Amino acid sequence: MSKHTETAGQYPVIPLRTEVQLPGHVGPLEIGREASVRAIEAATRDDNLIIIIPQKNPAVRDPGQKDLHEVGVRAEIVQVVKHSPGRFTTVMRFLERVHIDALVATEPFLVASVSKLASTTEATPDALASTTTKVRDYLVAVVTDAQAKESRDKDGKEKEPRGELTRAQVQAIVDPDKLVDAAAPYLELERDELTSLLIETDTMKRLERIIPSLERQATVLRLKADIGAELEGESSRTHRERVLRDRMRQIQEELGEQDDNAEIDDLRKKIEDSKMSDEVRAVAKKQLSRMSQMASSSPEYNIARTYVENLLEIPWNVFTDDRIDVSAARAILEAEHSGLEKVKRRILEFLAVRKLAPNKHGPILLLVGPPGVGKTSLGKSIASSLGRKYVRISLGGVRDEAEVRGHRRTYIGALPGRIISGLKKAGSMNPVFVLDEIDKLAADMRGDPAAAMLEVLDPEQNKDFVDHYVEVPVDLSKVMFICTANQLDTISQPLLDRMEVVELSGYTSVEKLAIAKNHLLPKQLGEHGIGKDQLEVTDEVLTEIIHSYTREAGVRNLEREIAAVCRGAAVKVAEGAETVGLSLKQLEELLGPPRYVSDIAERKPEVGVITGLAWTPVGGDIMFIECRIYPGKGEVKLTGQMGDVMKESAQAAMSWTRSNATRLGIDHAKIASSDVHIHLPQGGIKKDGPSAGVALTCAVVSVFTNRPIRNDVAITGEIDLRGNALPIGGLKEKILAAHRAGIKIVFIPFRNEKDILDIPDEVKSQLDIRTMKKIDDALAVALGDAPAPPEPEPAIPPPTAPSRSNVGERLPS
Ligand code: ADP
Repeated sequence: MSKHTETAGQYPVIPLRTEVQLPGHVGPLEIGREASVRAIEAATRDDNLIIIIPQKNPAVRDPGQKDLHEVGVRAEIVQVVKHSPGRFTTVMRFLERVHIDALVATEPFLVASVSKLASTTEATPDALASTTTKVRDYLVAVVTDAQAKESRDKDGKEKEPRGELTRAQVQAIVDPDKLVDAAAPYLELERDELTSLLIETDTMKRLERIIPSLERQATVLRLKADIGAELEGESSRTHRERVLRDRMRQIQEELGEQDDNAEIDDLRKKIEDSKMSDEVRAVAKKQLSRMSQMASSSPEYNIARTYVENLLEIPWNVFTDDRIDVSAARAILEAEHSGLEKVKRRILEFLAVRKLAPNKHGPILLLVGPPGVGKTSLGKSIASSLGRKYVRISLGGVRDEAEVRGHRRTYIGALPGRIISGLKKAGSMNPVFVLDEIDKLAADMRGDPAAAMLEVLDPEQNKDFVDHYVEVPVDLSKVMFICTANQLDTISQPLLDRMEVVELSGYTSVEKLAIAKNHLLPKQLGEHGIGKDQLEVTDEVLTEIIHSYTREAGVRNLEREIAAVCRGAAVKVAEGAETVGLSLKQLEELLGPPRYVSDIAERKPEVGVITGLAWTPVGGDIMFIECRIYPGKGEVKLTGQMGDVMKESAQAAMSWTRSNATRLGIDHAKIASSDVHIHLPQGGIKKDGPSAGVALTCAVVSVFTNRPIRNDVAITGEIDLRGNALPIGGLKEKILAAHRAGIKIVFIPFRNEKDILDIPDEVKSQLDIRTMKKIDDALAVALGDAPAPPEPEPAIPPPTAPSRSNVGERLPS
């Protein structure tokens, strides 16, 4: 019997470093090592038979028995091509697996004695038969498809693999081991996988080991064939791309290979873990599947990813537990804010109602008042007393509806609006949102942000708030909204209707002192790393800061000045000072010369100059009104940025004076032959409103009667032509401003008497607040009796700070 059919015997051996060959096919084999070249030469001199054995470790140069596997392949050399002396390429027919019994020689090449490999299995014949059939069917599919494709790709460019079997040949293979060997070239197997197929003696295990790869290969080939069919005759590039992407996704899905795209997988896991509703989850997943069909570098992919990430950042169904403990809330409010008794009481009532009726949509609090009176920080205290997350959303100057409600995703760089961003920041669906400066929402052609806010604040609608970017409804009904504003006039009525207004007015000096001592100073010391005992600031110094360095309704600038003092002290502490005292003189060194001096102390009684009171969104203020007459034709000139309503007040003041001239002792001819100029200094600031009427009249009467007006009197009140003083708004702020400015007597309309109740006692004790029914009541007190001495002509204002040197040079008048 020829050695070709008889397995057992001794043969030259070629150890393979990296390759692994299985029997059943013909293929090339490169020979490089000298011993291997010798083995080939020996074999070709004999019967062309040789044994191929893979090395266990490719790094070993001259392998011995221990370095080789116990199973090899007997092969027949079909052809030898010599490249150069000592370098061959051979073509081998790989015949069968053999068991390596022993190496019988190692020099000049390896010689092994081999025997037939006994095939074993523990599987039942039935199981083995059915698995064999399964493998055969798969292999038939792979082979068939490969051929179909080959015949389609006439140019041969994309020729599919590797094996050369036909369908009939595969169907003819009966021996399961041969089936495995035949399938191997069609599967993209790693070296380890091939090695384990080579050395495995259990047939069933060999079959089972290749099934997953076969399945995969069959699927890929089938889908590729489908794509080919679908693309046939299709010229559109986009269509081609879409079909290919579609198939790629299908292939990935069928192979369970989504893991390849770690990012999408990561997002998918996050979506599963998130507490979003099923509806939102479906939307998110849809985006993911779109992403999986797109190139990860494409803009669309990034838009979809950002969208999914945004969805994930919304704290769906995350709620913090409410702690509505009214006494604890009271303690927090007291600890964090001085004064504000009425406001605190109102807030506690609000919280108590929340506790008793948690599911009722209570009104939304609107804190109105000048800047720096603690509106925002009260909002923060409310959040902390409820144990809720706090987010401040600034609406000042928001003109674009998209700022509230987000941009549609079709815009480049689109993002959710401030409400959704606020939720993301809060990390819970029931935070306290402080909507700051809701009075400064402005509408223009970019939509109406106030209308969007209306939807946000409306308990009927905000359960399903839809941000243009997010598109899915978001439930805002558990959010507690607190709004702040400087004024009510600019807030739209529908918005106002939803809110419960709580007014905060400016602070008196005493209140400011308490706030500075108990809150602002400790806070700033902490922020500057200065110990409580290291900086001593007396009440006297704080009061000086309040009076001479700030003039405001709130305490914002006060806080800033205190911070400046702390910075100065920090330098000294850092230089080694144990404690830093602060005298009034040192205060001036730190903060510079006093910025404000009392307007009253600076002024003398003058003809035609009167102090009016103004209300502004940043608090009350005093306002000087100047009036002069000169020869003319009875004309009236109004300057200083007066609004229409104020101009009308000036006209009314003129008319009343004319009509009462005789009674007031004014010569009618003088009125007819004089032009009147009324001016409001600080001409850069617009002034309007009717409340300067009485003051304007007093100024006009003063110039025509040449009686000076007291500098310590301020007047507020509207007039009619009958000389009545009509009520005005913003009284408290105006009175506080008069008090700050050092005024002694304030005239207010009689019908504002009820508002005096709101004025702090401290102010009432230092300020003489008088009511008037008629203009005459104010005239009687404000205008001095004695005619003023004649004014020097022309009136040249004295230099503000005459220096010594030029005093002597002044010409005698
Ligand atoms: P607003 O929102 O009214 O403009 P803020 O809340 O920003 O004012 O207040 C400015 C600063 O003044 C904050 O540091 C705040 O804590 C402090 N503040 C204002 N009012 C009080 C008060 N009554 N008690 C303690 N601190 C106050």
